[in-house]
Amino acid sequence: MTEAFYDKLAAIRHEIHQNPEVSEREYNTTEFLKGYLSELGIKIIETDLRTGVIAEIGSGQPVVALRADIDALPIKEKNTFDYASKNGAMHACGHDFHQTSLLGAAELLKAKEDQLNGTLRLIFQPAEEVSKGAYAVLETGVLDDVSAIIGYHNMPFLKPGQIGLRSKAIMAAVEKFKVTVKGVSGHAARPDLGVDTVLTITSMVNNLQAIVSRTVSPFEPTVLSVTHINAGSTWNVLPSEGFFEGTIRTFTKENRQHMRQQFTTIVEQTAQQFGAQVEISWGQTPNVTYNDEELTPLIFENSKKFAEVIEVGPSTGGEDFAAYQEKIPGVFAFIGGNGEENAPDLHHDTFIVKDEALPVAVNYFVENAQLLLNYFSKKASE
Ligand SMILES: [Zn+2]
Ligand SMILES: [Zn+2]
Repeated sequence: MTEAFYDKLAAIRHEIHQNPEVSEREYNTTEFLKGYLSELGIKIIETDLRTGVIAEIGSGQPVVALRADIDALPIKEKNTFDYASKNGAMHACGHDFHQTSLLGAAELLKAKEDQLNGTLRLIFQPAEEVSKGAYAVLETGVLDDVSAIIGYHNMPFLKPGQIGLRSKAIMAAVEKFKVTVKGVSGHAARPDLGVDTVLTITSMVNNLQAIVSRTVSPFEPTVLSVTHINAGSTWNVLPSEGFFEGTIRTFTKENRQHMRQQFTTIVEQTAQQFGAQVEISWGQTPNVTYNDEELTPLIFENSKKFAEVIEVGPSTGGEDFAAYQEKIPGVFAFIGGNGEENAPDLHHDTFIVKDEALPVAVNYFVENAQLLLNYFSKKASE
């Protein structure tokens, strides 16, 4: 990558960072991306997506998709550098970096379009943070003829220049639960005449913590976190209703099912014990991000040409990239974005990705896109 191109990409990232837009409202971001791609002469594919951009380079079979997410978070940025957010939202997950690297890759791949062995479909995906974008993209049908898809997430614990990768599960399946408990309101001095919502909820929260520790193998990574409880409004009234919510993270289909079943059983039994009514609702959330066992080793080897590639353990974070992998083979990598000892984590209000990390991210797309086109062309001619 030339110095001038690097400077250009860094400036683009700063521009996007300064003007973040939250999930499903990435309107200006979408316009910016479309404008930039059009200026490069890259074909935009019209879909009914309200935000996000699908574009295409090359022609014919096979088709390989490259995906970057574009949405920001409703977090007030605490960084003070000159390109910090100026609108109250924040690219605290580094999706500004992801989309910039795909733009950079698009520019380099467009320049060698006549040498490409097929079509590259660029997916600038909206609404990753709310687990909706990948499903919306799939619904447009733009992945129907795609042989494989690649994507990545920047990782604060890896240094610029490093790529973390593993076959099979790399990120967790996510559950989002909300449990609403209905007791019987009454005077705090006569709990015997009511049904105690507070005690029911706190007992549920306690009992739920026994699922992972007592019913799941210690060799099976599993998380259950209750993160938000709400009940009551004053000191001398037993509230009639309350709720709690949180998340479960698992790495296999069987364990995901086991956790949901156990969760439901414990919540219902605890409600019964206290005579309360209960309702559980589950959010629409991603499955496990599962890296294709045939393609991942190829990308692992190929990436050594431009990066230090490390075999990493799975992350208990989730990714809606998993939705693509349920339909087509996919590879999702972690790309070093910081690497400092106290690097703020993703979603932190002082989160920061280093510009120096851009070249490896661009190369990840450029080199592996061509690798996969060649791989599938060869396979088709065999
Ligand atoms: Zn995020
Ligand atoms: Zn993210």
